[in-house]
Amino acid sequence: MNCLDHDSDDFDPDNPLNKPDVPEDVQDAIRTLIRWAGDDPEREGLLDTPKRVGRAWLEYCRGYGEDPAIHLSRVFEEVGGYDEIVLLKDIPFQSACEHHMAPITGKAHIAYLPDRRVVGISKLARVLHGFASRLQVQERLTAEVAQCIWDNLEPQGVAVVIEAQHGCMTGRGVKTHGVEMVTSRMLGCFLEDPRSRKEVMSLMGY
Ligand SMILES: [Zn+2]
Repeated sequence: MNCLDHDSDDFDPDNPLNKPDVPEDVQDAIRTLIRWAGDDPEREGLLDTPKRVGRAWLEYCRGYGEDPAIHLSRVFEEVGGYDEIVLLKDIPFQSACEHHMAPITGKAHIAYLPDRRVVGISKLARVLHGFASRLQVQERLTAEVAQCIWDNLEPQGVAVVIEAQHGCMTGRGVKTHGVEMVTSRMLGCFLEDPRSRKEVMSLMGY
């Protein structure tokens, strides 16, 4: 990274960290929203806010630029006879609700029962973040993560449980703090076999 190299041709003293440009129409939209909310976008503290908000949303929604399945493309077929549940627990994540563009924050538990293929465990979290970094509803996020693992690892079962708080509930409307929404999606043996489901749920702490 040579963004602080002053000899470089593409060094821009106004943008030393080489942050992405935020087009004027995007900035105007944010100024309009600030005005609509009751503040003055021209006051000093808000002058750079449209740019910051534009860049922040690029980051919140970076998932649109990736196919989360890519993280499951490197699989290990040598599983050494391992035929038990693989579980990644308490994965923190952030998303944004598509109805209010308000934050969704929570944690996910992702489990699968391998058949022939396993992946590096961090890849499950990457799949989650790929889908979470888009405008979402929690139900669809849960289903998309489960389906992606199901399609790409062809395991015997997949279980995804997500617990999250929704900014649109805690910060507006009914203003219920501390309330969590829980969603789950079970596929394969975890859907069909009550004993397998019980086992995975108890591993997850339910
Ligand atoms: Zn919402």
